[in-house]
Amino acid sequence: MLPEFLRYPPGGKPWLLYGAVGVSLALNLGLAIRLGTSSDGVPLAGSVADSVEPAAVASATEPAPIQAIGDDTTISNAAVPPDQVPPLPAPLGAAAEAGTHLYSGIVTSSISATFTGVADTSPAALSAVYTRLFAWDMDMRRDLHKGDRVEVMYEQREGQEPLVLAARFTSQPGTATEHVYSAFRWQAPGDRFPSYWSPDGTEVPKRLVAGPLDDYEQITSLLKDRPTHEGMDFKTPIGTPVEAPRAAVVTRINWNQPANGNCVELKYQDGTMAKFLHLNEFLVKEGQSVAAGTVIAKTGNTGHSTGGHLHYQLEQGGRVVDPVDYHGTLRRTLQPDVMDRFHTDVKPLEQQLDGQLAAL
Ligand SMILES: [Zn+2]
Repeated sequence: MLPEFLRYPPGGKPWLLYGAVGVSLALNLGLAIRLGTSSDGVPLAGSVADSVEPAAVASATEPAPIQAIGDDTTISNAAVPPDQVPPLPAPLGAAAEAGTHLYSGIVTSSISATFTGVADTSPAALSAVYTRLFAWDMDMRRDLHKGDRVEVMYEQREGQEPLVLAARFTSQPGTATEHVYSAFRWQAPGDRFPSYWSPDGTEVPKRLVAGPLDDYEQITSLLKDRPTHEGMDFKTPIGTPVEAPRAAVVTRINWNQPANGNCVELKYQDGTMAKFLHLNEFLVKEGQSVAAGTVIAKTGNTGHSTGGHLHYQLEQGGRVVDPVDYHGTLRRTLQPDVMDRFHTDVKPLEQQLDGQLAAL
């Protein structure tokens, strides 16, 4: 209890009580302001715009954009200590296992609508993977015609996007301009991962000329398909070596870590800035000069990332540049001496697609 003279000071008002309330309000307000920034005055991650990748939105009616697998969510993963990096997964071959599905459809509106009714997965998820496969040759948001035909053989894996084993797209079937695109999953001798090949032995996905990774599972996001996401994503196991594509100077390391994770920025000799995000570890220092081909880091799953991948981003004068345009692309072909084996391996897949077609 306050003494009588404080509760009823001269003048008739409880000034001390007013004062105590005022001080309390001021302290609380100060605390609220401080909570808006981290202790070193840097805005918290939620308000940081630099390189934060917005979530991809898949729509049931619009064709789904090409989506990253391990990217652009709010889950943040710590770096994996070198002695705990998981072993590389054994690549899956083309052999169908349990849970394999065949699907065929005729285009009436969008590509994702064409996949309505697929088993064990969502139309958006399957159409995103399917669209990504053929994205190097055609744009399924622009180049579709009514009556075009899709065929796909896939597996649904727990908690992952569908794994396509074989896919075919027939543009304007039965017309003079009919064109067939096919992709069969197959691991070429000497490759670390299976890729997709057309029946003539040409690799379906293109590759960057002298890009940052010698080998990777697949490119899961292209700039042209998701312009709001400012780079290219390569799905890789954690610990894959990242090379400097060009001679460069290391300009920054580990900026905006909550989003970027461990990251390295290079300045190429032509002034182009290159960002490498979500690394597990880096092997260079700020200010260091590196020759083209120098291993500068190992890929990881740090920052805003849900699976091992490399985000590679280029900028010139502050403007984002497409690595596909900057580096150029190439398309590999199988050596003639492996073509027999390739055809033997993919023939059953091709026959299954044909069987599915006959049932239409
Ligand atoms: Zn990315």
